[in-house]
Amino acid sequence: MGWRYLLDAVFPPHCVACGVGGEWCCSTCVEGIETVRQDRKIEGLDGFIAVGYYHDPRLRAVIRGLKYRNATCLDGACREVLRRYAETRIHPWPWAGESTLVVQPVVGAPNRIRTRGFDPAAFVAAALKKGPIPWAAMGSLLERKTSVSTQADLPPDALRQANVKGVFSVRENADIPEAVLLTDDVFTTGATMREAARILREAGVKRVYGFVLALGA
Ligand SMILES: [Zn+2]
Repeated sequence: MGWRYLLDAVFPPHCVACGVGGEWCCSTCVEGIETVRQDRKIEGLDGFIAVGYYHDPRLRAVIRGLKYRNATCLDGACREVLRRYAETRIHPWPWAGESTLVVQPVVGAPNRIRTRGFDPAAFVAAALKKGPIPWAAMGSLLERKTSVSTQADLPPDALRQANVKGVFSVRENADIPEAVLLTDDVFTTGATMREAARILREAGVKRVYGFVLALGA
């Protein structure tokens, strides 16, 4: 019993993707999520993984659910998505040769975190640590300097890259690791993640990888 029981009684769980009762994301929908078969090469990153596609209504519903509903409701579904992806992945992880790896969320703008109550990038980092890469260390290397508008408000393409330039800094006195894995929920233009990678390299990080739940928006 307790809070969760009470919450479930007042707001009975139903699948965020198909609406069926019982769970916040039913196993049929989790199993139906289309995964990315071929790793993308992303300029500025030493390796990059996207689990699925934002145009997939099931994965999109999970990600939106994380943002706008309640992360704790979809924690299990998210971990199951990652577990299935890791299990069916054919190629080694891009960071397979690393003996240590620091997982670093691409820090969201403060206003974005506040309104949603949590940071999706940090959620993905924690899910990786709890799932496929338990041996990794969690990092807090990056700081967001200013509260710029979120990507949705920005003009496309080159301007986005210009707009994120200088938005991150590396924490003072941070121990600089050899290899960092940047995490986020959705990868659109990649401008923010590339800028985070650039600033980490500038601080002395040798290799920077990326991991997101979904490609494109
Ligand atoms: Zn469903």
